[in-house]
Amino acid sequence: METQKPSVVYRYRNGLYVNLTNRCPTACVFCIKNAWKMDYRGSSLDLAGKEPSPEEVIALAALEWAKEPFEEFVFCGYGEPTMRLEALLACARLIRSGAAAPLPRTLRVRLNTNGLANAVWRRDVVPEMKGLIDSVHVSLNTADPAQWAALMRPLPDWEASGFEKVKEFIRCAARALPETFATAVEGNDIDLEKFKALAAELGAAPRIRGRLEDAAGEQPRPSSGGGGKL
Ligand code: SF4
Repeated sequence: METQKPSVVYRYRNGLYVNLTNRCPTACVFCIKNAWKMDYRGSSLDLAGKEPSPEEVIALAALEWAKEPFEEFVFCGYGEPTMRLEALLACARLIRSGAAAPLPRTLRVRLNTNGLANAVWRRDVVPEMKGLIDSVHVSLNTADPAQWAALMRPLPDWEASGFEKVKEFIRCAARALPETFATAVEGNDIDLEKFKALAAELGAAPRIRGRLEDAAGEQPRPSSGGGGKL
């Protein structure tokens, strides 16, 4: 039987999506990676422990660009991209420096994340993203800490402090980066008005999206961790 090659990059709409890792500090209830068996539209996003180097990512992106240019370079796979913070920043630096040609230096770079990077790395990592990341979409999902823990199911280390850490990450991103969204998934019994108010208080634009499983006529794409972070 033929074994499917893992996909490090895959296309969605006008973007090229980068699957940097399968590691994640949360196990969100709305994550689709298990239901979809690590597949996305025929691409296997199961890296089987072989995480790509920044050079590999850029080489694959350049090949895709040669086939057809894309508008956005998005860190979003079946795992949390900031678990590989250094690799993520290295990819963005290669683009910005012009070393990733034919990818243009000005290519829009987006990060879809669960917002736990400051917690995981035990420092404010947002300043390191300045000038490299154009847009951050943070999967905040609720204004209620207990509901956050129930929806995101973080590893024990982040159960108590995770929600505040995600809020802190959003605040920092909104101050330092050109565009910051706080995202939520419909249908999780969320108080959307409170969620929108919290997003605004943190300086982010709210973005509510439908459940991926409900998307008519298309297989869901992974979250910011691609499993739910759109
Ligand atoms: S939705 Fe994203 S953050 Fe949540 S478990 Fe899946 S990969 Fe991780």
